[in-house]
Amino acid sequence: MDCFLLKCTLCNKTEVFALKGKCECGGTLLVEYDIELAARTFTKANLKQRHSSMWKYHELLPITNPNCIVSLGEGYTPLIRLNTWEQKLPLGKLYIKREEQNPTGSFKARGFSAALTLLKERGIVKAAVPSNGNAASAFAAYSGRAGIDAYVFIPQDCPYLIVEECLHYGAKTYLVDGLIHDAGAIVEAGKVEQGWFNVGTLREPGRVEGKKTMGFEIAEQLEWTLPDVIIYPTGGGSGVIGLWRAFSQLLELGLVNGEMPRIAAVQEYGCTPICDAFQETGLTVYATLPAPTGMRVPEPPDRQLVASIIRKMNGTTVTVTQAEIRAAAAATGLSGISSSPEGAATWAGMLRLCETGWIQKKDKVVLFNTSHAMKYSAGKHASHIPLIKSYQDFLDVRK
Ligand SMILES: *Cc1c(COP(=O)(O)O)cnc(C)c1O
Repeated sequence: MDCFLLKCTLCNKTEVFALKGKCECGGTLLVEYDIELAARTFTKANLKQRHSSMWKYHELLPITNPNCIVSLGEGYTPLIRLNTWEQKLPLGKLYIKREEQNPTGSFKARGFSAALTLLKERGIVKAAVPSNGNAASAFAAYSGRAGIDAYVFIPQDCPYLIVEECLHYGAKTYLVDGLIHDAGAIVEAGKVEQGWFNVGTLREPGRVEGKKTMGFEIAEQLEWTLPDVIIYPTGGGSGVIGLWRAFSQLLELGLVNGEMPRIAAVQEYGCTPICDAFQETGLTVYATLPAPTGMRVPEPPDRQLVASIIRKMNGTTVTVTQAEIRAAAAATGLSGISSSPEGAATWAGMLRLCETGWIQKKDKVVLFNTSHAMKYSAGKHASHIPLIKSYQDFLDVRK
């Protein structure tokens, strides 16, 4: 079963796959594949015939026993072209990857489908995750599906619907008076005594591998070409690592040609450790933190790795404000797409990069709408919506 190898991104040591978190040196462990072996069956013709699911890319996912796959219908989300905006913006083509259509309403489903598959294959019965919300609800759902006992630890200011979702899926749910790393400290502190496995960001290889499938899908949906630019809302950065792996593997397999896409990692003003690491400025200290979203990760587990990948991809980072995010959500809404603050942030980032000229008229651009707006609802009707009982009331409130 454990025939996979893991390679440390820091000391380059390889070791046999075991669910053990980090390398002894503190580096992040990523799965190594036999690309030549995969190439025999991971072909365009074969892939075309397979069922539309992220598991169609199984040769490059860390599973050996397909019976253990923990699936709720994740992946193969639509890639929508936004033609009308293409005429208004100084870019070539514009696409949005509709990740909000995944089970549990965010792309976190992909990572947890892969992670829970790994845990199930290895007989783990109890696991825990520190999360800003979407990881917790995805973990809760996939744990339920896998029959694994789930514990989630979430900052108390998390949108209430996401917390409700965790309860709905039967996770033991705890609000933490603190931030995601404080939740992470609780999970680590209880690891031995509680016997739970920590499925936190970069603690096991499944979540990166699951997110990697977004890159495979984009290439396949663009008829085996790569976009020029991808814009990604970044928190811990496991998606950046996953996308880089996807494009590297496709290039190595010769399934696509040309340049690696340039990635733009977007963060929100108030919490920008990945932007800071990329720009080598030292950590910016802000007076206030932004709202709790997947981008609010003040202490990402391996910011240097994420920054180095952004450099390898000829990428950049962008910081956007809450006002820009709000305006962007309205813009995607007008196109019929429900964007969470993170998804909207990619739109805001795109506008900035068009302005600076980093995105050019020839560029094919893909935005990641990682979750939808509904999960972030305040929990009651907005106060400016009129309440009426009759047609006369309607006429009155319109005055
Ligand atoms: C987790 C999350 C992110 C950040 O993703 P990372 O790969 O961890 O950087 C972005 N958007 C949403 C909706 C998220 O839940």
